[in-house]
Amino acid sequence: MKNLLLILSLFIALSGYSQQATYLDGKYKAEKGGQVYVAQKQHVVDDIKPITDPNAEIRNVILLIGDGMGVSHVFAGMTANNDRLYIDQMPFVGFQKTKAKNKFRTDSAGAGSALATGEKTNYGSISVDSVGNPTPTILEYAAGNGYATGLVVACKVTHATPAVFIAHVPKRNLYEDIATFFVSDSIDVFLGGGSDNFFKRETGVNLRPALEAKGFQIVQEMDDLANIKSGKVAGLFANGHLDAYPKRGEFLVNGSDKAMEILNQDDKGFFLMIEGSQIDWAGHDNDVGYTIEEMLDFDRTVGEVLKFAEKDGHTLVIVTADHETGGLSVINGDIEQGMVEAKFNTTGHSSVMVPVFAYGPGAEKFCGIYENTAIFDKMMEAFGFTK
Ligand SMILES: [Zn+2]
Repeated sequence: MKNLLLILSLFIALSGYSQQATYLDGKYKAEKGGQVYVAQKQHVVDDIKPITDPNAEIRNVILLIGDGMGVSHVFAGMTANNDRLYIDQMPFVGFQKTKAKNKFRTDSAGAGSALATGEKTNYGSISVDSVGNPTPTILEYAAGNGYATGLVVACKVTHATPAVFIAHVPKRNLYEDIATFFVSDSIDVFLGGGSDNFFKRETGVNLRPALEAKGFQIVQEMDDLANIKSGKVAGLFANGHLDAYPKRGEFLVNGSDKAMEILNQDDKGFFLMIEGSQIDWAGHDNDVGYTIEEMLDFDRTVGEVLKFAEKDGHTLVIVTADHETGGLSVINGDIEQGMVEAKFNTTGHSSVMVPVFAYGPGAEKFCGIYENTAIFDKMMEAFGFTK
């Protein structure tokens, strides 16, 4: 009897172990509706030293927006990357509330406009107020004060999140109208997709001559971008949206590095917005693997920005979202394996608060719970701009 018990307990212990060791081969029992995913590759997260002088002069503000990135998206990425992200090293954390002026549950246009202009507007509106008047954006204030400006996004540059920083139109799907706003003295570098909205337009003229007249170097291959060292750049690397990661390659990391290299040549400083655009689309698709790969691409980009800011000492870095997509929850995971089990609750946006992470001089002002419009106010204060 004693021997039987011993054998039985050994068997239980062994089977427990074998389940632990082989769940990645399909023996792990996911919750109903849960999706199990192991990241394709983990990235090394280097240590970033905190900025010790909170009163250092702020020259640059870099805002990184993970479209649709809620706390669960960050945590799924963190778990998949063996419990460590670059975002972890942004010591000041807050939450912002995302509702639009006319709807509790926002879209990227309404929420992005609030981040960019400090004014709540209607669902679907691109930096205009509820009667259609343009509301000035942080990018326009920066340009008006003699700073360099840029936008780097993993979608069309005419899509809602980049559009809210430079364009003013009543509806987000007016892509060709939005494109005309890029023919501007207010923006120096924009990188993303959407060349058809500029060069193969259904309405109006080809914008290539107008962009060139404004001094833009137009590039459509990443290799050509690598050769540009200064000046204004219109980088349009796809007819429409860019591909999902990893198909689009290291566009977001390399594009962001190039934007920082060029914009940093400005005497005063710069404003740069970088968007991890497809975290949102992964949420709409209810695809945990897509979510994690986009999150990790975004985090590697955050890493490049933090390394720049660490070295520079005069750069405020903010990472946040416009809203949460998918009502994602992380059910289970394994840090060593980089395995995440997660589940979506909707194919649309949810209404929950989204996280804000800040690093650099002025970062402590981003602690607390506030409306999304406060992000604009805090960036204005950081630059020392007045309306
Ligand atoms: Zn969305």
